[in-house]
Amino acid sequence: PEDQPEPDPSKKTLVILGTGWGAVSLLKKLDTENYNVVVVSPRNYFLFTPLLPSCTTGTIEHRSIMEPIRNFLRHKKAAVKFYEAEATKIDYEKRIVYINDESEIKGDISSTEVPFDMLVVGVGAENATFGIPGVREHGLFLKEVGDAQRIRTRIMDCCETATFKDQDPEEIKRLLHMVVVGGGPTGVEFAGELQDFFNSDLKKWIPDITENFQVTLVEALPNVLPMFSKQLIDYTEKTFKEETITIRTKTMVKNVTDKYIEAESTGPDGKKILERIPYGLLVWATGNALRPVVKDLMMQIPAQKDSRRGLAVNEYLVVKGTENVWAVGDCAVANYAPTAQVAAQEGAFLARLFNQMAKTNEIEKQLAHLSEAQEKAPNKEARDQVFTDIKDLQKRLRRVKRMGPFEYSHQGSLAYIGSEKAVADISWLSGNFATGGTLTYFFWRSAYLSMCFSTRNRILVGLDWIKSKIFGRDVSRE
Ligand code: FAD
Ligand code: NAD
Repeated sequence: PEDQPEPDPSKKTLVILGTGWGAVSLLKKLDTENYNVVVVSPRNYFLFTPLLPSCTTGTIEHRSIMEPIRNFLRHKKAAVKFYEAEATKIDYEKRIVYINDESEIKGDISSTEVPFDMLVVGVGAENATFGIPGVREHGLFLKEVGDAQRIRTRIMDCCETATFKDQDPEEIKRLLHMVVVGGGPTGVEFAGELQDFFNSDLKKWIPDITENFQVTLVEALPNVLPMFSKQLIDYTEKTFKEETITIRTKTMVKNVTDKYIEAESTGPDGKKILERIPYGLLVWATGNALRPVVKDLMMQIPAQKDSRRGLAVNEYLVVKGTENVWAVGDCAVANYAPTAQVAAQEGAFLARLFNQMAKTNEIEKQLAHLSEAQEKAPNKEARDQVFTDIKDLQKRLRRVKRMGPFEYSHQGSLAYIGSEKAVADISWLSGNFATGGTLTYFFWRSAYLSMCFSTRNRILVGLDWIKSKIFGRDVSRE
């Protein structure tokens, strides 16, 4: 595979966009020798997103949760081409993807076309801002490695600036006010990690900030973690209260400036109040929005006209209105939540589907060949033999073709909430059970360690956990 042969003209070209949960789980299980496989993504690594919130405080170092895509591809039976580029446009009619090298170093050619016979769109989603002014300029997101690094730097910068000589008390308060907008699992996990960082390290290293350091979680709905059960929502809110994290529910952010957010909250009497909340760090975690390349593709396909949240797919994950385009993960709408769990199962399903399709093609070719042989057979005995072979193959073909549609199997929802506690809604065997607490936290840790991860990453994460336990988290600003 190392010598990168030219594409085999007898095979179809399968282009996969993305190196996230959906695309990588497809690549892992795909028999690459059946297709000319091309992968395009601006990121040459897979990112284990569930542990990304831990990177914002240095509990885990970011490289421990990155896995080079070349590492996956190296072990495939047939060579797979990887281009580090962004798909800027998909021309569905012409069957071409336009790609652009967005990295710092560009060669003479930095944009080109990749033709496809089959296309899998697994580009994920971008951060939703709902067009709220100032969010992009002043807020930090939490989706990619760079985001986590920026947050880590900003936390330390705020702390150091707050302790600057002669700083005004109001300004100190503002700088140490860490505001998280969005009470979904991303916002909750980050708030929990940040409070942990303060409790176990920052307080010790910079005692001056103890009085004024404050984490606030702002959520528009009446409660946080809407996808969890009532009992776990209560448990999370109680834990946050003990931890002194302020939760501001029924508070909708409407505007963001460099030093404060403007939020509309609903009081107990139903009256709406507009208030200014000063902040030093603003982390914006209000969920997903469509990527432009996906929006553009949807506009080319009449059957996608009414779809709003992403590419509508059928039960085989085929993009509705097409025959040769599939979608997985956060950019696809298949009535499941946009989670890693769903994306990974969808990717694995497509790998099985494509492997089966290749087998079907192969058997059909053999059948055509045998039919010819049957006609040319010199005597009855030979004809009978070919007839038996055909029957066997037809039986195999029926078996291969019997692949059922995609069915999602929900293993449960898990979220870390800080102070070594986690919440879990798990559906095992019969019935659901919801748990929260320290035991759940250990379960959370071991579950993540055992999940879809290379041994190398598992060891790195384990060592990071031990390291931050023994030495504390590193508070140097990068
Ligand atoms: P992604 O994993 O986002 O991958 C998209 C890929 O497409 C990336 O490689 C990207 O670089 C690439 N790409 C982007 N644009 C283009 C383009 N134009 N052309 C080509 N490639 C492109 N889910 C859970 O189930 N459990 C959790 O604990 C959990 N924790 C999370 C924590 C955080 C902080 C976040 C942000 C998400 C978490 N999720 C979790 C959700 C989960 O990460 C997503 O649902 C999942 O990543 C979706 O997989 P995907 O393959 O669709 O997209
Ligand atoms: P989300 O969509 O789950 O939550 C966003 C929250 O922001 C919502 O509760 C919404 O009401 C709130 N919001 C929106 N606009 C607001 C505004 N202007 N002011 C105040 N609040 C506002 O987003 P997420 O947490 O980023 O999660 C995205 C996806 O990733 C989800 O499917 C989630 O399940 C998944 N995820 C899972 C885990 C986990 O399982 N541990 C962790 C992170 C993310």
